[in-house]
Amino acid sequence: MTKPKPKKPKPKLKQLHLNLDWCKGCGICAAFCPTNVLEIDDKDKVTAARAQDCICCKLCELRCPDLAIDVETE
Ligand code: SF4
Ligand code: SF4
Repeated sequence: MTKPKPKKPKPKLKQLHLNLDWCKGCGICAAFCPTNVLEIDDKDKVTAARAQDCICCKLCELRCPDLAIDVETE
């Protein structure tokens, strides 16, 4: 009998690094985030409004054209 493969542990968010100097407020990251973590504030900068909902998919990091997001996992 073959043993079931151990499940990969889910990545856990350590920190969402948002480089506001590079962010131009285009909103692409917020549009791609599946759990609605990100918002654009009244200064046209990204903000992590609901960081606790982040599932570490890294879509925001991959899609940001200005490389302003770095998703750090534990
Ligand atoms: S995709 Fe990048 S540049 Fe655009 S709002 Fe998000 S962090 Fe800012
Ligand atoms: S890593 Fe995924 S869930 Fe987390 S903020 Fe980015 S797009 Fe949203």
